[in-house]
Amino acid sequence: MDEGDLAQDWQARSNAAAIAAHRHAMAANRGPATGICTECGDEIPPRRREAVPGCVLCVDCQAGAERAAGA
Ligand SMILES: [Zn+2]
Repeated sequence: MDEGDLAQDWQARSNAAAIAAHRHAMAANRGPATGICTECGDEIPPRRREAVPGCVLCVDCQAGAERAAGA
């Protein structure tokens, strides 16, 4: 293994670590995408989940959250 191989190996490892950290952060932000509203427990329609990947609130609760945030 020469220096180039070592550099490539290191880069592959750091990329994998960065991706894992990113995924972990995304999961922490969004929670698990279960398709169930985390606020009221209603099912989130598949169409909404496709339109808003990773959404954890149904339309009603999302609207309420945005009103509460003053958006
Ligand atoms: Zn809801």
